[in-house]
Amino acid sequence: MRKTGFANCAKACVKSMLDPPAVRGRGSKHENFLPGHNYGIILARCLRRGECELLHLMVPKLTVRTIFDIDLAELKRNGIRGIITDLDNTLVGAKVPYATPELGAWLETVRERGFQVVVVSNNRKTRVSAFAEPLSLPYVYRARKPLHAAFLRALEMMSLQPKETAVVGDQMMTDVLGGNRIGLYTILVEPIAVNDESWVTRNVNRNLERAFVYKLRKKGWLP
Ligand SMILES: [Mg+2]
Repeated sequence: MRKTGFANCAKACVKSMLDPPAVRGRGSKHENFLPGHNYGIILARCLRRGECELLHLMVPKLTVRTIFDIDLAELKRNGIRGIITDLDNTLVGAKVPYATPELGAWLETVRERGFQVVVVSNNRKTRVSAFAEPLSLPYVYRARKPLHAAFLRALEMMSLQPKETAVVGDQMMTDVLGGNRIGLYTILVEPIAVNDESWVTRNVNRNLERAFVYKLRKKGWLP
């Protein structure tokens, strides 16, 4: 990419992240950019000013410690029929290859209660398929969250609308931002094993997340 074009490109990417997908339509060329291309400029400006649309999109509808703390009856009352869930550090630790017995039982309960579940992960196919297939869970790998394509794919797999679907994840920068962008019911959980996270997650996403949490708490938008 030419240096002179970077500012314009970043601006277009910001717009692309904030515009609802329905307005832009699918297949926008900006959807092809990795989230990292957007982060530096958008987020620095957003954090400096302390007021931008992005800040609103960082606020989860619900915050719980673990997935086991999610009140499934409450979700049902809110009209939720499907759950899009992140994998690493949400369902199991980032270095744990398979589901724990406790998680298996929880997923069973979730499905018995009539929820559909799709795993949407930014991780590679081998990791996601090895985890999801033994549980007979449909999945989307290399999802490039917070971009919306993978979320839309998951909605399509469940034949559900955004307002009928919750997204559960441990990262504001990917799961919450991406889910809020398309109107999903966003649930933030605490990461299971922070030390097992990738370098980018630990050193980029988490630092940005801390800065956002600080801003959001100052505004009283987060407890
Ligand atoms: Mg995660």
